[in-house]
Amino acid sequence: MSDAPDVGELTPPDRTLMGPGPSEAHPRVLKAMSTPLVGHLDPSFVEIMDETQELLRYTFRTDNQWTIPVSGTGSAAMEAAIGNVVEPGDTMLVPTNGYFGGRMASMARRAGGEVVEVSAPWGEPLNPADVEAAFEQYQPDVFGFVHAETSTGVLQPNVDELTSIAHAHDAYVVADTVTSLGGVELRVDDWDVDVAYSGPQKCLSCPPGASPLTLNDRAMDKVLDREEDPRSWYLDLSLLEGYWGDERAYHHTAPVSNVYALREALRLVAEEGIEQRWARHRDVAGDLKAGLQEMGLEMNAPDEYWLPSLNAVQVPDGVDDGAVIDYLLNEYDLEIAAGLGALSGDIWRIGCMGHSARSQNVEFLLSVLEEALAEQGFEA
Ligand code: PLP
Repeated sequence: MSDAPDVGELTPPDRTLMGPGPSEAHPRVLKAMSTPLVGHLDPSFVEIMDETQELLRYTFRTDNQWTIPVSGTGSAAMEAAIGNVVEPGDTMLVPTNGYFGGRMASMARRAGGEVVEVSAPWGEPLNPADVEAAFEQYQPDVFGFVHAETSTGVLQPNVDELTSIAHAHDAYVVADTVTSLGGVELRVDDWDVDVAYSGPQKCLSCPPGASPLTLNDRAMDKVLDREEDPRSWYLDLSLLEGYWGDERAYHHTAPVSNVYALREALRLVAEEGIEQRWARHRDVAGDLKAGLQEMGLEMNAPDEYWLPSLNAVQVPDGVDDGAVIDYLLNEYDLEIAAGLGALSGDIWRIGCMGHSARSQNVEFLLSVLEEALAEQGFEA
């Protein structure tokens, strides 16, 4: 056996996080995470669970009783949504206009569902007419869409139109709100979304680990009436109901510190006010967009679909996207990210989320990006 590894104390670099997530955690959130543990069934923790659920309902703009943090990252909440709502033999309609529609399709197939697609190019939202046509053609049981596509910087408008189409065909709607919750307008009840999942590390500025999920009664009835158990025991919502519902019985050991963190992050949302928070993201990211355009750069998404929390910027001809990313990280401890999938090499992804959505970050980014571009021979 080898000797005990000589590993030093943890000293991560102090980065300015302006990528696609995680965003910078608010200091109050980090402080909450370092408070003492209690048991996951301790009466004090049960109260913390109730408060976290209440705060999640506020942030999702919903009265859904079934609103919980799922233990795990955004993909766990996504799989809890799709793996419970999609039953073997169900058909799920998924979008092709970004990276995360593809992940929805994989999860639906693993749940035993058949997958059909509604197409739109990467960088554009879904067109309601195409969704209607796909419903006519395939009659899907479940329709998934991505409200804020982190891979393309596109915000899906007309959500209520999409949900009306799905409901006119008796289908259930699953919305990916990972990059919108707490950052851009999202109204689960008013827009009649049946199921929405999210992640804490984007516009909520909380470390990953406990991920928001909400289901209305209609969706939960489908889940509870399933003929076959979902394929995942860990994410089976009928079992999780025992822990997060009235019973409060052991299912698994909740990530106590992550729930503390999420509660504090959501308290910050409530203190700021959800609508004010959406406005701050729009304003601060609006300054970022204007600054980028002044520099001669072009946004990937047209203004109508621009997603304030994730700004996709076209890489100018002759500029090496990776060299700019490395320069910002190495010289200035500033993180931005490259494009994903079909947009790899074509765009940078600049996040403006939660605690990172501050004017001082935007001013800093604009000044050092200009320098990084000049290094590559691009003149503003
Ligand atoms: N959906 C979207 C739109 C995302 O941006 C992400 C992560 O970036 C996910 C799902 C998956 O979340 P996670 O990486 O936290 O598992």
